[in-house]
Amino acid sequence: MGPARNIQDVAEKHLCTGCGVCAFLEPQGIRMVDDLDQGRRPVVAEGAGDSNGPAFRACPGQGLELPPFDPSSGHLKELWEGWGGVLELWEGYASDDEIRFAGSSGGAATALSLFALEERGAAGVLHAGPRADVPYLNETQFSRDRADLMRNSGSRYAPASPCDGLEQVVQADSPSVFVGKPCDAAALRRAERERPELRDQIDVSIAIFCAGAPSTRGTLEMARQLGVSEPDQIDSVRYRGQGWPGEAQVVGRDAAGKPAGGKLTYAASWGDILQRFRPWRCYVCADHTGEFADLAVGDPWYREIPEGEPGRSLILVRTEKGRAFLEAARRAGVLTIEPVAPEILPASQINLLHTRGAVWGRSWACRLLGVAAPRFRRMGTGKTWMKRLSFKQRAQSFYGTFKRVFTKKLYKRRPVVPFEPPRGRSQGGGRQ
Ligand SMILES: Cc1cc2nc3c(=O)[nH]c(=O)nc-3n(C[C@H](O)[C@H](O)[C@H](O)COP(=O)(O)OP(=O)(O)OC[C@H]3O[C@@H](n4cnc5c(N)ncnc54)[C@H](O)[C@@H]3O)c2cc1C
Ligand code: SF4
Ligand code: SF4
Repeated sequence: MGPARNIQDVAEKHLCTGCGVCAFLEPQGIRMVDDLDQGRRPVVAEGAGDSNGPAFRACPGQGLELPPFDPSSGHLKELWEGWGGVLELWEGYASDDEIRFAGSSGGAATALSLFALEERGAAGVLHAGPRADVPYLNETQFSRDRADLMRNSGSRYAPASPCDGLEQVVQADSPSVFVGKPCDAAALRRAERERPELRDQIDVSIAIFCAGAPSTRGTLEMARQLGVSEPDQIDSVRYRGQGWPGEAQVVGRDAAGKPAGGKLTYAASWGDILQRFRPWRCYVCADHTGEFADLAVGDPWYREIPEGEPGRSLILVRTEKGRAFLEAARRAGVLTIEPVAPEILPASQINLLHTRGAVWGRSWACRLLGVAAPRFRRMGTGKTWMKRLSFKQRAQSFYGTFKRVFTKKLYKRRPVVPFEPPRGRSQGGGRQ
């Protein structure tokens, strides 16, 4: 099938992460849609998204690249190969109890966002949240106050393309915060090369750790298993938060119109249902911990969670801008945090390190079969494959991919199929 030569190729050759930056950079010719089985994907008009255009240059789907390790940068050498640049690690939680409880982990992303809005005069926070009229879909949100932030807090294990809203950041009167998945944060970094004015317009970028964003089909399956089988009968969907890790919850109606829905533990929702719906691109993603963001937040899973624990966040400082921002937030009392040792990161997220290694085997297996695969330069995927995976895991990264190329039909182009939400009854007011 060969490498991608334009944005349409990226989308159809299973390389798109769904970040939305192409639609920001070439809005006349590219728009983002929901594809039920893939995620947010671009629909490209004739002549748009060409190889010499800004969208294709910034697109993170084709691969990513880190600079060489610089000993004078302050980045921790022991983490560089597996996790990219980390200056400091912290663990803690939002000092505001309501935010801590609502947040997925310890509410760090929301607390830092609110700090920027209330204390630093930030114009807004560009991130993702439930669509007001179709609550099982996400839409890009530009939150301007606490109420907006609270509505959009919590991880949504579903497609979102926050970079498609970057024009709001460019046009704002003062800098804004950006929150997104690692691929979204990488796209933002690349977009800064195309639109340099973005650099000064970003107060801080925050990435949330991400093992993969399930397609909308995953959400609909979860709703079906909870008794809401028709999409237009879904009133609200929550994936976690309100405790740690919190439960997934669907509220809606059954086929007879009676109230239906229910809750699932995180293990049952993610482990048994949602993760099966991750698109192929997430299987060949090398950056799951936001290596291109200023700050990155995830779960400190390295210890047992006591019953009733309201939540804790692991916070990685990745840039000097991130360091200054976090320090200001800590001094202001927004976060209750303490520094932790570098070993906490692999102890918390060993699966993500294994995936980084497996990506090397998976990408090569793809190329051997003529399937397009992203290229990661200086991101340590080969070394991680060699050093961190067992012989069995290494072999599996190849033969598992050979199998998937055929079961998932990765050898074929897959046109983007825009999803039109059914409108059986009026929706709205279904936000979590
Ligand atoms: C698809 C997905 C996969 C994840 N995989 C992991 C993992 O492997 N390891 C791990 O530790 N944690 C994972 N998480 C959870 C998340 O990284 C942590 O909970 C993180 O610590 C954020 O917690 P918080 O309490 O600081 O965030 P909150 O204060 O709850 O804020 C969450 C922020 O994330 C934004 N957001 C939510 N969903 C999305 C989305 N789909 N796309 C872009 N932005 C979004 C919201 O708009 C909000 O600003 C995943 C989350 C998602 C959405
Ligand atoms: S990865 Fe992002 S920029 Fe590339 S095609 Fe997909 S949405 Fe567009
Ligand atoms: S796994 Fe990687 S490509 Fe997939 S959504 Fe997460 S950061 Fe993006």
